[in-house]
Amino acid sequence: MLRFAPSPTGDMHIGNLRVALFNYIMSKKRDEPLLIRIEDTDKERNIVGKEDEILAILSLFKIEYQEHQLQSNHLRFHRAMALQLLHDKKAFNCFCTPETLEEKREASKANKIAYRYDGTCEHLPPEAVIDNPLPFTVRIKKPTGSIVVHDIIKGDSTFASDDIDSFILMRADKYPTYNFACAVDDMLSDVSLIIRGEDHLSNTPKQIAIQKALGYDRTIEYAHLPIILGAEGKKMSKRDDASSVKWLLEEGFLPEAITNYLILMGNKTPHEIFTLEEALKWFDLQTISKSPAYFDLDKLKFINREHLKGLDPKELSRYVGFADEEIGRLAKLFLEEVSTLKELREKIKPIFSPKNVPEEHKEGIELLRTLIQNAPHFDDYTSFKNHLLSHSGLKGKALFKPLRLLLSGSEHGPELSDLYNYLKNYLHEVIQ
Ligand code: GLU
Repeated sequence: MLRFAPSPTGDMHIGNLRVALFNYIMSKKRDEPLLIRIEDTDKERNIVGKEDEILAILSLFKIEYQEHQLQSNHLRFHRAMALQLLHDKKAFNCFCTPETLEEKREASKANKIAYRYDGTCEHLPPEAVIDNPLPFTVRIKKPTGSIVVHDIIKGDSTFASDDIDSFILMRADKYPTYNFACAVDDMLSDVSLIIRGEDHLSNTPKQIAIQKALGYDRTIEYAHLPIILGAEGKKMSKRDDASSVKWLLEEGFLPEAITNYLILMGNKTPHEIFTLEEALKWFDLQTISKSPAYFDLDKLKFINREHLKGLDPKELSRYVGFADEEIGRLAKLFLEEVSTLKELREKIKPIFSPKNVPEEHKEGIELLRTLIQNAPHFDDYTSFKNHLLSHSGLKGKALFKPLRLLLSGSEHGPELSDLYNYLKNYLHEVIQ
């Protein structure tokens, strides 16, 4: 089983989407099911509607999964496992108040030493625990030795027992911490490979410590993906527009192009432009670079344009708001100039809108408009042009400038003969 475990606490970040894609690809390659586990245990940070948004994005990106769970439904397992650890003396109740802990943390800071839990409650006599009415947390006893994390991308990292520390498993409100819920759920779902962002690498030894303490002996494989940096080399935060999947979609990037780019960045791939289907054949976690990936919006634009070029004209037509294949072909003419659907729509819209006529061409445009309204249908551009030439008395620039404005709403653009070819069945709507 592989899993993608998003928290429903904000807009989906491209880093999360990349994690989801890689999990999907590896689940396909290993022929193992994929689980979507919504990590909703942090009640204050959950946002209503985000779960549906995540699932809608997964479906748009064709990320299929076989299981879907809400972590909050597993509370009884988290509590049962905490009790088992207490019973086995692998964990202990901690009555230290948040204030006391904070003071000790401050003192460590003042002395410039890393704060570690000092073991105050680890060896309390049973009577001090059983009859104690004070609120308590449950802490794991820190592991006896260091823990080595083997990572497919990052290699081995060793974490000393003191750095793992006697950390909290259950909070005073009797809800699990992220590390505890995650470690228990991965174990119960028999997860074989965990792919997630490298910001979680420091959590991994804690999760391994929990599973070891529970007697779980399956070795889970790990792949922590390097972070994605923005153009200026800083971590892409939620405030960077381009880091939001929703923003990229609104800007008119195709899901296929975003997928292509997220697989390409910081990776060695046999081609630059490919589909998810193709990537399934050669994708390999081993070729992912250890160093951060740089997000380059211009590169994504280039990739988007290539995918737009390859799109079926009928589908492209729908994307720009029409149902006719010819408009899809027309749209492709503009792909020399633009690279997103939003920009493409901005090119197509003026063609079908009332034209803004500059004073110098007003007369010519009026003349051509009347002429075209009364002309028969011409299947080819040459006959159409000859008809206008012989009936308008205009020639050269005096004919072609107003004609271009009338047909496209713009002074520049694709060849008139190409425009005519795709617009000839819409002439009466176009020349408004
Ligand atoms: N809920 C965590 C996140 O969204 C999951 C991390 C993990 O995959 O374990 O970052």
